[in-house]
Amino acid sequence: MTQAPEATTAPPLRAAAGQPYAYARRELVEPDWTRLPGWRGVTREQWESAQWQRAHCVKNAKQLRAVMGDLLDERFYEDLARDQAERATMSMLLPPQMLNTMVPAGAADWTEAFLADPVRRYMLPVLSDRRTDWPSHPHASRDSLHEHDMWVVEGLTHRYPTKVLAEMLPTCPQYCGHCTRMDLVGTSTPQVDKLRLSLKPVDRADAMIDYLRRTPGVRDVVVSGGDVANMPWRQLESFLMRLLDVESVRDVRLATKALMGLPQHWLQDSVVEGLERVARTAHRRGVNLAIHTHVNHVNSVTPLVARAARTALEVGVRDVRNQGVLMEGVNATPEDLLDLCFALQGEANVLPYYFYLCDMIPNSEHWRVSVAHAQHLQHAVMGYLPGYATPRIVCDVPFVGKRWVHQVEEYDRERGISYWTKNYRTGIEADDVEALTRRYAFYDPIHTLPEQGQRWWREHTPTAG
Ligand code: SF4
Repeated sequence: MTQAPEATTAPPLRAAAGQPYAYARRELVEPDWTRLPGWRGVTREQWESAQWQRAHCVKNAKQLRAVMGDLLDERFYEDLARDQAERATMSMLLPPQMLNTMVPAGAADWTEAFLADPVRRYMLPVLSDRRTDWPSHPHASRDSLHEHDMWVVEGLTHRYPTKVLAEMLPTCPQYCGHCTRMDLVGTSTPQVDKLRLSLKPVDRADAMIDYLRRTPGVRDVVVSGGDVANMPWRQLESFLMRLLDVESVRDVRLATKALMGLPQHWLQDSVVEGLERVARTAHRRGVNLAIHTHVNHVNSVTPLVARAARTALEVGVRDVRNQGVLMEGVNATPEDLLDLCFALQGEANVLPYYFYLCDMIPNSEHWRVSVAHAQHLQHAVMGYLPGYATPRIVCDVPFVGKRWVHQVEEYDRERGISYWTKNYRTGIEADDVEALTRRYAFYDPIHTLPEQGQRWWREHTPTAG
C-alpha cells in the first residue's frame, strides 16, 4: 500500500528571494484605444484592420492633436515642433497600434507621462530629450555603417563573406527616431535630405537576383528595407520565390518591425496565405526562413503582436527573432531588458536574439550607451532566460560588423574609444592587405566619460563648445 507523502512545509522561495531580478509571468494586454479621445468610437474590427491602421497613421502634430484631444499641453507640441525643425533625422509616422502602446491608462499628468514614456522616447522624439552638450558625436555620420559603400548592386550590401543585406525599398509603416538607415529611409526632414534609389524596384530586384546567381559564396540573405511590410505582397512573394530558386541561398530572413508596429499587416488573409506558400517552398528546398523584428520595450508586446508572430510560425516560418536596440531612457536597464525578453520568449514565441548598441548617427547621443554599460547589461541578463534565448548584446563596428560587446580588443575608457578586429574582409577590402590586422574604433558617448576624457574631446573637437 502506498502511503500519502508526509505533509512538508513549503521550502522558502530561495530561487526568487533576494535575486537582482524577480521573474513573474505577466499576461499581455492590448491597451484600450478608446481611452484616447480621437479613437473613442473605434471598433475592434476597425482596430484589427490593416487598412484602417494605415489610413489612420499619425504623420504630423495636427493628426496627433486629433487623437490626443486636450490630453497634452502646448509645451509638448512646441518641444515636438522644435525637434522636427532642428534635430530630427526621421519624419513622424506612427501607426495607431504603436501610438496606443504609449502611456497606459490612468496617468495623472498626461504630458509628464508622455514625456517619460519609453516608446514615445524613441518613436516620437522631442527637443528636450536630446543632449545640448554633445547632441552628436564628432565621429557620427549618415550611413555610419557604410552600407552604401558596400553596395554591389543598388540596395544590396555585401559586408560579410557569406551574407548580404537586400534593401528592397526605402519606406516603413513606422519611422523610428534612431533609425540607422536615416540616410536612405523615410521622407526628408529639415536636417536630412534623403538619398534616393535610382533603379525601378523591379530592375533592382532583378539585379540582386542576378548578383546572387553569380556569387554562390553568398548563402544568407536578409530581405529588408525599410520594412518588407511596405512591399506589395505579390512583389515580395515573387522576389522570395526567385531567391528560393537560387541554389546557394540557404537562409532567408525577412526584416519587419511592422510585426510589432503594425501586426495587423501580418494577420491579413492574403499575407498569411502568401507567407504559407513561401514557407512551404522554403521547407521543400531545405532553406531556413525566418522573420526578424525590432521590439525595444515590453509595452510594445501586445496580444496582437503575439498573434502575428504565432501565425507566422503556424504557417511554417521556422523562427521569429527580435533584434532590439539599446537606448537610454527606453530599455538600457537589466529589468527593462529582462521584462522585454520574457514577454517575447514566454508570451509571444519571439526569440530574444540581439540587442545592438545604437549606431553613431547624428543627434543620437542621448540614446547611446557606452560599451562598458552594454557589457554590464550583458552580464546582468545572463542566467535568467534559457541559454538559446539569452540575447547577445552587440556593437556594430563600422567596417567590421557585429561583435559581441565582450570581444573588444582594447578599450580606452577615459576617452571612450574601443578597438575591434575582424576575421574577414568586407566587400570593399579585397586588396586591403591590412584589413585583418587593423584595429577599428568605436566611440562611447562623450557625456558618459570621466571629466578628463570629456576635456580631451572638447580640446580635440574644433566645433566643440
Ligand atoms: S523600422 Fe527599421 S528601417 Fe524602418 S525606420 Fe525603424 S529602424 Fe529604420
